Amino acid sequence: MSNNNHTKHDPASTSQVRQKLRRLSDQHNELLGGLVDADQMIIGSVFEVYKTCSKPNCCCQRGEKHGPFTAISYSIGGNIHHKMVREDDKSQIAKEVGVYKAFQKKRKQLRQAQRDINEQLDALKKLQSREYR
Ligand SMILES: [Zn+2]
Repeated sequence: MSNNNHTKHDPASTSQVRQKLRRLSDQHNELLGGLVDADQMIIGSVFEVYKTCSKPNCCCQRGEKHGPFTAISYSIGGNIHHKMVREDDKSQIAKEVGVYKAFQKKRKQLRQAQRDINEQLDALKKLQSREYR
């Protein structure tokens, strides 16, 4: 417990840590606020499919497949499922999958902010603690 005796009473370090914590707190609250307001979402991924039909001599039999059609993949209990998306639903599905992706991204950023906050709190504890002798 001796190598931190110099920084321990350095007011600049403490105020730097406090400044970082306030900034992280703002960032954390902004991220959490965005997550709280999340719109309806679909947990899945959208992708394009090209298909062949059963008509003989159709161009798709020579490699010029039909499409693109939109499909969605999603996981239930660890199993991946696919489903074709109806043309009328395409934009709504894309929007709701987008909400999901953004939600996941924000959660990842929130977890990072929480790790950073913990790190700074550890630093603050170290700076502000003393031993009673
Ligand atoms: Zn065809």
